Amino acid sequence: MHEFSLMENIVSHVKSAAAENGIAKVARFTVVVGAVSGVNIEALRFAFDMHQKAGDLLEALMVIEQKPAPAVCRECGAPFETRDYWPVCPKCGSLNVRVDGGNEFYLSEVEGE
Ligand SMILES: [Zn+2]
Repeated sequence: MHEFSLMENIVSHVKSAAAENGIAKVARFTVVVGAVSGVNIEALRFAFDMHQKAGDLLEALMVIEQKPAPAVCRECGAPFETRDYWPVCPKCGSLNVRVDGGNEFYLSEVEGE
């Protein structure tokens, strides 16, 4: 599961962001996960649990913000947003859809005191 190494990364980013901003105790942090980033949220939460069990960021709440991907239908040209890997056009039902982006995976916010 690559979520473990992703989480490893996020945790170290959270820690350095906290240090840079004089945050002694992280209350929450937000991770943005694109709809088609391939990141498994369950696995990510599990990985974070493991970190907390090991004593990392004990009081922190991990907020996951799932970002839909913008898509355009190649058949009818309808623009829409999707959370699916293989989206179906909501207008004409075509599977011939282009997905732009949605691969985001980053730490967006660290809060605490
Ligand atoms: Zn369409």
